[in-house]
Amino acid sequence: MSPSGVRRQWEVVPSDIAQKTHNPLRNVVENLRLEPNPEKSMIALSIGDPTVFGNLKPPVEVIEAMQESLLSIRYNGYAPSTGHQEAREAVARYSSSAAVTVHSQDVVLCSGCSCALDLAITVLANPGQNILVPRPGFPLYRTLAESLGIHVKSYNLRPERGWEVDTMHLEQQIDASTAALVVSNPSNPCGSVYSRQHLRDILQVARAKFVPVIADEIYEHMVFPGQTFHPLASVSDDVPILACSGITKRFLVPGWRMGWITIHDRHGIFETAGVRAGLQRLSQRILGSNTLVQGALASIFTRTPEKFFQDTIMTLQCHANIAYDMLKGAKGLTPLMPKGAMYMMVGINMAEFPDFASELNFVEQMVTEESVFCLPSKCFDYTNYMRLVLTVPEEQLREACHRITAFCKRYHRPEDADSHKGNTDVVETCTSNCSAALRESRDLIVPKDASISP
Ligand SMILES: *Cc1c(COP(=O)(O)O)cnc(C)c1O
Repeated sequence: MSPSGVRRQWEVVPSDIAQKTHNPLRNVVENLRLEPNPEKSMIALSIGDPTVFGNLKPPVEVIEAMQESLLSIRYNGYAPSTGHQEAREAVARYSSSAAVTVHSQDVVLCSGCSCALDLAITVLANPGQNILVPRPGFPLYRTLAESLGIHVKSYNLRPERGWEVDTMHLEQQIDASTAALVVSNPSNPCGSVYSRQHLRDILQVARAKFVPVIADEIYEHMVFPGQTFHPLASVSDDVPILACSGITKRFLVPGWRMGWITIHDRHGIFETAGVRAGLQRLSQRILGSNTLVQGALASIFTRTPEKFFQDTIMTLQCHANIAYDMLKGAKGLTPLMPKGAMYMMVGINMAEFPDFASELNFVEQMVTEESVFCLPSKCFDYTNYMRLVLTVPEEQLREACHRITAFCKRYHRPEDADSHKGNTDVVETCTSNCSAALRESRDLIVPKDASISP
C-alpha cells in the first residue's frame, strides 16, 4: 500500500491462516519419487478410504435410509447449526451404554469427524498454547492446530507394548500452556486398542495435570474378536472429555461427511468454562452438517444389522492375519498385529537395508520395482515403519505381500553372519489358517447389488 493507504495495484495474498495450513501427509508423499514399474499393476496399500477398492460397501439398510431421507423432502432446509434435534437424539442413544449416558444437548453434529476434531481443538486451545498428540499419530491434528497458531507437542507410543502411551513421557510433555490432550483409540495408524486399565492410566495423568481430553474414537467398535472397545468417557469419573466420532469408517461412508462431538463433563468443568456455548458458537461458522444424512441417522443406527459390522471386522481381521503371516517371513520386516481399525504397522529394520537411507527411500524403491505403495511412517511423525491398509481385496493384498517379501529378499543384508541362521525362504508360503473363515466371510459380503440400485 502507498503511504496514503490507497492501493495502486492488486495486493492479494493468501492469509496467514491459509499459509500456516499444511497437511504433513501430503507434504511427505508429494516429495517422494513415485514411479511404478510399468510391468506390474499398481497396488496402493496407502489409501485410508475403505470404499475405493469396491469390495467394502455400506449395508443396503443404510442406502435405503438415505433414499427415504431424500424422498421425504423434509431435509432440504437448514438445520440448527448443531444439528436437528432428532438426529442429535439418535447419536445420544447410539453413544450411550450401561457405562455412559449421553444426552442430546451434549451432541454437536459436524461435517465428518475431521470437523469434530477441528471444533474440539478450536474451542479448547488459544494461539500460542499447545495440544499433545500421539507419535506415531494421525497427521490431521497437527494440520488443524498449526493453522490456528496452536503448537503441537508429541507424546510417545510404545510399539513393544501394543502402542500404549508412554505415560511418563506424556506427563513430561505437559506444561502450563497445554490446553488439551488428544487420545486416539482405536488408533490410525497403529491399529492399537487400549485396555480399560491403560485408559485409566492416561486419564490419571490428565487428572493430575488438569488437562481436558479430546478422544478421537472414529474407529469405535471396530475391534477384532476377543478385543473390547472402551469409550474413554466410560472410564472417566471426572476428567472432562470431548469425544469425536462419526459414521465414516464403521458404516463405510467417508464421503457422506457426518461426524459429531459428544460432551462428557460429569463435574461441570466444561459447563462452567462455557465450552458447550463455545462449541455452539463455533458450529455457526459453517451452519451445520449435511441435513440429508441427519434425516437418515436414526434409521442408519437402528436398522443396520449386527451382521454387517461382524462381516466388516471379519474381513479386516482375516486380511490382518494374511498380511501378518506373509510379512513375518519377509527378511528385515517386523509386522505388528493390530487389534482393531483398518491398518497394520510394519517395522523396517533399516540397519539390514544399507541401500536405503531411510524408510522413505525404502518405500520409494518398492514402488519403482514392485508397484506397491505403503505410507512411510514419516507421514505419522515416526521413523522406520510403513503402514499398510487392510481394506484392499484379498487377492491384491496377497500379491502385494508377495512382492514386498521379494523386494526385501533382494535388498536384505544381514547385519552379521549370525542372522543368516533361521532364514528360510518363505516367499511362497502363507501359514494363515483363516481361509475357511475367509471363504465364509466372502460369501457374507457378496453385494446385493440389485437391491442397492434405486
Ligand atoms: C478417517 C479419520 C478421521 C476423519 O474422519 P472423517 O469423518 O472422514 O472426517 C479422523 N480421525 C482418524 C484417526 C481417522 O482415521
